Amino acid sequence: MRFHLQKFLETGKTPYTATFSFDFSQADFPGYQVNEPVAGTFSAELIPEGVHITLQAVAKADAECARCLAPVHETYTIAQEYIVRPRDLSDEDFELPLDEKGLLDVEELVYQEVIFAVPRVLLCSPDCLGLCPICGKRKAAGCTCQPADEAAPADARLSILKQLLS
Ligand SMILES: [Zn+2]
Ligand SMILES: [Zn+2]
Repeated sequence: MRFHLQKFLETGKTPYTATFSFDFSQADFPGYQVNEPVAGTFSAELIPEGVHITLQAVAKADAECARCLAPVHETYTIAQEYIVRPRDLSDEDFELPLDEKGLLDVEELVYQEVIFAVPRVLLCSPDCLGLCPICGKRKAAGCTCQPADEAAPADARLSILKQLLS
């Protein structure tokens, strides 16, 4: 989906609104997938400074908990606004995905916003205890070897200390 930003700046008298649904199931995301389509609304209207763009979308990330590997399905709401001034169209460092003809790649913009919205580290819960290093089970699932786990290294260190002292 491409929006002709330059043309809209010149002739866009009435506000523009479009709904979209983008399939990012084959796209590359850092550490998670977006298997369900990302649906939302893209709007543009002329203001004295240029074009006021509003983007709203809902994205669902699928991942494994970074600590215990349990499946994580999180929903993120994207709500962004941008103001594009006429001079931005010829600015090579302009942050929005705009080509030399003044066409805005809305799908690429949504993709960038999904990456921005989803945290780098996804957890099944903020206080996930992770996996037990002894039995390999999720600690939240009721592993019983946690006390031994904590006591053992201290004992080992203590016995080395005793050997050194004797
Ligand atoms: Zn977890
Ligand atoms: Zn355990």
